[in-house]
Amino acid sequence: MMMNSQALVPITVAKGDGIGPEIMDATLAIIQAAGARIAIEEIAIGEKLYTKGILTGIEDSSWESLRRTKVFLKAPITTPQGGGVKSLNVTTRKTLGLYANIRPCVSYDPFVRTKHPTMDVVIVRENEEDLYAGIEYRQSDDVYQCLKLITRPGSEKIIRYAFEYAVANNRKKVTCFTKDNIMKMTDGIFHKVFDQVGEEYPDIEKEHWIVDIGAAKLADTPEAFDVIVMPNLYGDILSDVAAQIAGSVGLAGSANIGDHCAMFEAIHGSAPRRAGQNLANPSGLLLGAVQMLVHIDQPDVAANVHNAWLKTLEDGIHTYDIFKEGISKQKVGTKEFAQAVIERLGQQPVSFKPVVYNAKPPATEKKPTFTPTVPAKKETMGVDVYVHSHTLNAGQLAEKLLAAATPNLKLKIISSRGQKVWPNGFAETFTVDHWRCRHFNPSGQPVTLADIIALLTTINAQGLDVIKTENLCTFDGVEGWTGVQGG
Ligand code: NAD
Repeated sequence: MMMNSQALVPITVAKGDGIGPEIMDATLAIIQAAGARIAIEEIAIGEKLYTKGILTGIEDSSWESLRRTKVFLKAPITTPQGGGVKSLNVTTRKTLGLYANIRPCVSYDPFVRTKHPTMDVVIVRENEEDLYAGIEYRQSDDVYQCLKLITRPGSEKIIRYAFEYAVANNRKKVTCFTKDNIMKMTDGIFHKVFDQVGEEYPDIEKEHWIVDIGAAKLADTPEAFDVIVMPNLYGDILSDVAAQIAGSVGLAGSANIGDHCAMFEAIHGSAPRRAGQNLANPSGLLLGAVQMLVHIDQPDVAANVHNAWLKTLEDGIHTYDIFKEGISKQKVGTKEFAQAVIERLGQQPVSFKPVVYNAKPPATEKKPTFTPTVPAKKETMGVDVYVHSHTLNAGQLAEKLLAAATPNLKLKIISSRGQKVWPNGFAETFTVDHWRCRHFNPSGQPVTLADIIALLTTINAQGLDVIKTENLCTFDGVEGWTGVQGG
């Protein structure tokens, strides 16, 4: 059938590094044979640019293509370790505001060996915040810091997305994983927002697990879960675990969705050791492309590709990573696998349930993705002053800081690595050269920035090495800091 070029949807494509070009060629061959109505703009990213000294791994002209097409099909790239290179994956997600990372992890039993034959879990991973803010410092000889940033709007956006996804895809339950028994403020807000947003979805079952035992349960009994929403780091780790126990990391695709743009990829990396040998399984990227076809409103093509792929799997035509003697029928390379899928376009799987994708419902008034925060009454009640010293012990440091006290700010407690060491510290507590010195106004009244500057001036006069300060603020009277361990 002749396509009207007017109807073609422009998409930006990057073939990436390692196995990237092979799996992308296979994916494009399949979706084009299935009649995808797309116009491809190819951009170069990754190693080719790093070796030219472009440390971002992407050129300005490529951003221009991405901002215009708003749809990115991306093969994996190799991220050099160290050397000032930032991960292009993280940069792309954050620059384009792709806050939701959707990773379906499905078993294909009995055709792909798995200990979890009925597993069908979708991991919804927050994609921009948490420890991936990339804000790290060396603060002393001994101490390195990475800031974990969780925002209320960021949490609301991803949690709302997870519930909306559950409704749209006829899922019954949304589970939240956090570690809010320890990280009471950061993971705490994520959990709180989950409870609040969840109330708007009475028909969906809701539950929360502490991430450690939740991860153990996921690895042991994945069929107990449906949709799981979690902050960035837990989602990164556990989606790989989930994909692997479903059968292979080579089988899972992922969608990165934002309000303006979307990116589709495999969850695995560039597997450099497998590159150039026609070995890699293109399925992860192909399923990413299926998600893309649904996104660009070509559900007919998406279903055609997905069903042909399922038929290929059940016909036992497998790449090396999922090939098992006795289960598989034919071990094939990347190109032959793609050809086998192409030959099955138009066919339905027999053992697997055929996939149906619906056309997007007509645009209705879109709910806002988050509710704006109403600013609270904020008062500064004290300040933590971080000091670097490897010569003073806690008692000696306290003596100097008490000598530096001002009328409005006086030392109350010192901790090292979060554990109280003064007053009444234990000799057994291990300390390093990094001290958090908590000051409050003895009168219990709020303090001003001028009070803090006055304190820093007197501490400086004591010859102490100040690293940084953190203000201790209340918001509508609620403390915006956590207590000191043992304090
Ligand atoms: P990886 O996912 O690339 O590979 C790990 C192993 O999994 C491979 O050795 C291979 O045995 C297997 N594997 C992965 N994909 C496969 C496929 N399609 N078919 C068959 N087998 C497959 O992980 P890695 O080795 O830790 O990372 C390699 C590079 O990829 C690194 O530079 C890393 O930074 C990068 N990476 C990129 C992305 C991305 O672009 N989205 C994601 C993860 C890792």
